[in-house]
Amino acid sequence: MIPDKQRAFRKTYRSNLVGWYSGYIHLLIIYGIGISLIYFFSSHLENIQWWEWVTVPIVFLLCNIFEWYLHSYVMHRPVNLPGLRAIYERHTMNHHQFFTDSEMRFLNHRDWRVTVFPTYALVVFTLISIPPSFIVGYFLTSNVGWLFIATTISMYLVYEFMHFCCHVDENVFVANCPFVNTLRRHHTAHHNQSMMMSRNMNLTFPITDWLLKTSDLECGLVRHLLNGYSTKFMRDDLPITPKTPAEASSSSYII
Ligand SMILES: [Zn+2]
Ligand SMILES: [Zn+2]
Repeated sequence: MIPDKQRAFRKTYRSNLVGWYSGYIHLLIIYGIGISLIYFFSSHLENIQWWEWVTVPIVFLLCNIFEWYLHSYVMHRPVNLPGLRAIYERHTMNHHQFFTDSEMRFLNHRDWRVTVFPTYALVVFTLISIPPSFIVGYFLTSNVGWLFIATTISMYLVYEFMHFCCHVDENVFVANCPFVNTLRRHHTAHHNQSMMMSRNMNLTFPITDWLLKTSDLECGLVRHLLNGYSTKFMRDDLPITPKTPAEASSSSYII
């Protein structure tokens, strides 16, 4: 049963969306700029030593922690700074009203607007990545600096892809692709309004949720990452029994 409030919110949001918006162009711009940046940063790499590659898993983990903090303390908490407040409004006041665990799916590409970050976010993430990559590039080697920033931008593109997969209709790929199916169940549970402030705050791989015990599962890291749609290890102190993606898209039509 889809709540009337969500149905009404979707109707209003769609009617306020400018006529020229295209989700395809939105994604094309983000992935076009993102892939070009990664190509540009990677083109500076030369004679990479084995230990310089260690930058990639370290930055991957740092991005995972950053994503958890950004989602917990900026996307779900109103901060009185104009830019940060806009992120809160976009995520909590729009994205979470548009998608609940009663209806998690896009109707068409124009609904992507309420999920994919605006293009300037990629510019901001790039600017945030420049100082630390410059510092490690200066104090360690230039390869470490270029790998640092190439990894942060890659993780942003991975985030957009994985979050997008959480809001498409059930299909063979999202139901079976490792990591994607895990995040899809993880994120469907997060979209229950009684859980959204405190549970399942990772939006790619639930590593920090496992580490800080904010996941709705109670099991080890490997199981967390490869859980798929399973509900076997669900915590027993949750306010509700989270829906699986299949239950959240059981209706044959999308509102
Ligand atoms: Zn979402
Ligand atoms: Zn959220």
